[in-house]
Amino acid sequence: MTRPTHSRRQVLGTLAAMGLGVLTAARADTASQPPSDWPQASPVPGGVARLALGPATNRPQAWAGDAPLLVVGDSAGWTALVGIPLSAALGDAQIEVETGGSRRTMPYRIGPKAYAEQRLTVAPRAVDLSPENLARHERERIHQQAVIARFTEPVPPDLRMLAPVDGRRSSSFGLRRVFNGQARQPHSGMDIAAATGTPVRTPLAARVADTGDYFFNGQTVWLDHGGGLLSMLCHLSRINVRVGDVLAAGQNLGAVGATGRVTGPHLHWSVLLNQTAVDPALFIHA
Ligand SMILES: [Zn+2]
Repeated sequence: MTRPTHSRRQVLGTLAAMGLGVLTAARADTASQPPSDWPQASPVPGGVARLALGPATNRPQAWAGDAPLLVVGDSAGWTALVGIPLSAALGDAQIEVETGGSRRTMPYRIGPKAYAEQRLTVAPRAVDLSPENLARHERERIHQQAVIARFTEPVPPDLRMLAPVDGRRSSSFGLRRVFNGQARQPHSGMDIAAATGTPVRTPLAARVADTGDYFFNGQTVWLDHGGGLLSMLCHLSRINVRVGDVLAAGQNLGAVGATGRVTGPHLHWSVLLNQTAVDPALFIHA
């Protein structure tokens, strides 16, 4: 008895019946070459891990803890882009992946990254909040958590971002700040030096998710790029957009300022992925 042999045409026909197109079969050869618009892979605290999920007809769902992950690619090979918290422990970590109704755990490793530390001695009043300001900040923190938890579709078709203003970019993401001997939250974004009034661009096509004037962040615009990818632009002197506006990459949204708790005009830009602040520099590579 002879085994049936399959012609290429038959194999492709079978793949098509499985929902995997001929195009998919042809593109599998290039699966090792990730699209150049993806964020740089940097599996460290404050970085982005790119985890290959393999081929599947439909986009798999994936989670880090309870937070849904941005999954990009196509049926020839999907990739989860995982934002890693600055506070993450080094070593073994995992995500959950659901493909075609079956769920699995996918391990990965978080490597070390040394961020700079800044020790400052400041007047006690600059560190300790009044009860009123503490209450205000707590309300704003809860409001902000709801914005951060957004996960909308479609996922962004392109992930490379524009720097929102021209100017000297500090490499301050992840900076560990110690005020009067007390450790504060590490710096969760990129600061770009620019004069008050400098126009601020939309770094990547987005819908405006939130605007407001907040205690620490001052006049702020939150952008929802889709798929749990968000940008936050702070300390603005002027906001030119409203919640719900759909903005193209490069479109003006406001102007640099010094609102909120800052010592001088600059733009603070945070990028969040799966509810986690990651280094914006990973998204503006050439
Ligand atoms: Zn900042």
